[in-house]
Amino acid sequence: MSTNPRRPVRTALALAASSFALLLCTASPGAAAESPGQKIANALDKSPVYVDPSLSTAVDPAQQRKLAAQIRQTHLPIRVVLVPLVEGDSWDGEPQQLAEVVHDRMGGGPAILITLGTYHDDIDAGEWPNDAHQAMHAASAVSFQDDMEGAGLPRRIARAIEIIEAGTGDAEYEKATADLNGPSHEPRSPASEPQASASFPRILALALGPVLLLAATGLLLRRRARLRGELATPFALPRAVFAAARRADEAGLRDRAGEEVVRLGEEARAAQGDPAAIERALDAYAAAGTVLDRASGIPDLAGVFALIAEGRAALSGAPLTLPLCFFHPLHGPAARRIPWRPLGRREQLQVAACETCIRAIRTRRAPEVLTDRREGRPVPYFEVPAEQSLWAATGYGSLLTGDSLAGRVQRGEFTRTLT
Ligand SMILES: [Zn+2]
Repeated sequence: MSTNPRRPVRTALALAASSFALLLCTASPGAAAESPGQKIANALDKSPVYVDPSLSTAVDPAQQRKLAAQIRQTHLPIRVVLVPLVEGDSWDGEPQQLAEVVHDRMGGGPAILITLGTYHDDIDAGEWPNDAHQAMHAASAVSFQDDMEGAGLPRRIARAIEIIEAGTGDAEYEKATADLNGPSHEPRSPASEPQASASFPRILALALGPVLLLAATGLLLRRRARLRGELATPFALPRAVFAAARRADEAGLRDRAGEEVVRLGEEARAAQGDPAAIERALDAYAAAGTVLDRASGIPDLAGVFALIAEGRAALSGAPLTLPLCFFHPLHGPAARRIPWRPLGRREQLQVAACETCIRAIRTRRAPEVLTDRREGRPVPYFEVPAEQSLWAATGYGSLLTGDSLAGRVQRGEFTRTLT
């Protein structure tokens, strides 16, 4: 009965559009209009292993064929995509983005994509549906396994494929990272470490005994959460925000920090639920605004992001959240706490770090560290005396003993450091 008079028009338009698309396809059969993602997806039609020519010495054709044969034997939708990842490339240097794009160009569906990681020889894996074969942890586990140190890409990828096939990624990851999680090198109580880091937190800890107890409970709870295999880190801010922030210059970083402060304020005001949590988010919002107004450099702007993360953690309602990466807060949210000893110091700290930094420390490489200026020279920000820098005193949240960054700013501990 109801014939839609617009329907023929639509059909005609659709026809026109599809023949136009057909025209485009036939008009440019070459690779001129082919996106990098499409090019890789097309290559994966022929072989499950794609290696960019620039990496063909790291994984030569014979090794590629061997990996492809191993993959075929698993009967799993595993693909290996090795392309160099650099900031500012088609994938923003992010393995996840590369995997997303290639998966999309492959037409979606179940898939496991093994790529390079963000650090040297590390590998990464994306999986659809998420976690069906524990592929992400399988790839991460390889970076931590002692016998894989310096093993080279082909062997590392082969190992990851073995673990994915066995479906034991989570267990292998737990096993390979077990020694990162406890004070196994030094028989120290984790709860006693944070305040040993700097004179200011120590004084505060003395004044706030009960708070310390709370912090210890927090650590215990975190450990328990880890035992249950949960990564207690809801991504408070999308990774893309940090990826963009890391690339930005100071002015760009200031703009982005400003945008995120506004967003946090809007979300906190619109939020419903636990009034105390909303209050904490609003406090973090106010503190982020205070720091942004007076920020004199990248360390302060990173502090704005740390405060935003604190506010968003409050809004997320998650009971256990980690702060941003201690070594470089613009790496984004930390993945776990690890024991770490600053160079030339006896005491060991527990700091929250991102996966990249954990891997660096694990393999005895120096993690990328945010620098500040001390007497005109760039130094790791945490080497600035704690009384001159709220960020050195708190490690952007890692060294807090039960209180919050927002509370510190409210009490004037940021403005106090301004000269
Ligand atoms: Zn990091």
